[in-house]
Amino acid sequence: MIDVDPDRWLPSRDYAISGKPKVGNRVAWRYAIWLVVDEHITDEANWTEQEAAYLARIAPQHRAHSLPRTIVLQHECGPNLSGVPDGRQVHLHLDPWSGVMSLVAVRYQTCSCHGHPWPCIEYDRDCMIASQSRKTARLLAGAKPGVCAYCLEPVTGRQKTVTFPEPSLLVPGAPGPTFHAGRSDCWRGARDYETEHRLAAYPEATRLASCPGDVFIHCIGQTVECTAGPGCTGLHGPFRVRPGDGGTCATRVRSVKDLGHYARPLSDCGYRDHGSSCLGAETGPCEPLPPGVSDLFGRPQ
Ligand SMILES: [Zn+2]
Ligand SMILES: [Zn+2]
Ligand SMILES: [Zn+2]
Ligand SMILES: [Zn+2]
Repeated sequence: MIDVDPDRWLPSRDYAISGKPKVGNRVAWRYAIWLVVDEHITDEANWTEQEAAYLARIAPQHRAHSLPRTIVLQHECGPNLSGVPDGRQVHLHLDPWSGVMSLVAVRYQTCSCHGHPWPCIEYDRDCMIASQSRKTARLLAGAKPGVCAYCLEPVTGRQKTVTFPEPSLLVPGAPGPTFHAGRSDCWRGARDYETEHRLAAYPEATRLASCPGDVFIHCIGQTVECTAGPGCTGLHGPFRVRPGDGGTCATRVRSVKDLGHYARPLSDCGYRDHGSSCLGAETGPCEPLPPGVSDLFGRPQ
């Protein structure tokens, strides 16, 4: 059974802020509030290889706030999900790159069911179950015959559609899902089904709704270029992009092949304007985007 992950718990923002914990702070960790009673900076000799490599990129005079350390926690309120017996202190190692925790105000909210810090584990479980059942209901609705599995609207005989020939990989016993092929959002649903589920189950299947490359429209000349080059399947779906919108050659989008990196067109059309330019002119590695930035840009439609 799927359950909530205590390490992903987020306390209410009404009483917690992110920060580097110091002795005397209260921190929210694994559905409980803990008091930081001590801390030890890790000796350089005991740094892991990763930590040493990370710190090598920071000038020694600026390292003080990023040094790996262990904080000692005393339980204050909530369930003990530390793995250490009740009443004993917990030693928690903080990596230099993830040394930030939720720091808790003196007064914090608790639930009416257990008196645990809000939101408590039962509340999060209820939310997870509700979201799972919404997802299941949506999947079942999309598996009905004559319905688009993405928008759940009926598919009429005159509309262009794509239907996957293998049985559904999401709804046991249902036939392969159908998607509107003439609507960009529905096409994206088909593409995601193919790349995330179908190709994982049938790696040899001929693609019906996706391409291993990213498609760009060059701002100059409006030519369409796919990063897959000769391997392009042409299956990018219906898209209409104007210069300045997502999908032009000046827009950074996450690569379909390597989600940590952005994609670049293979050639440079010469577009330069207001500090943005054709990404085909860039050289060197396609550095990962800062978290969240790529989500601001739409994928080509
Ligand atoms: Zn509760
Ligand atoms: Zn649809
Ligand atoms: Zn261009
Ligand atoms: Zn392509």
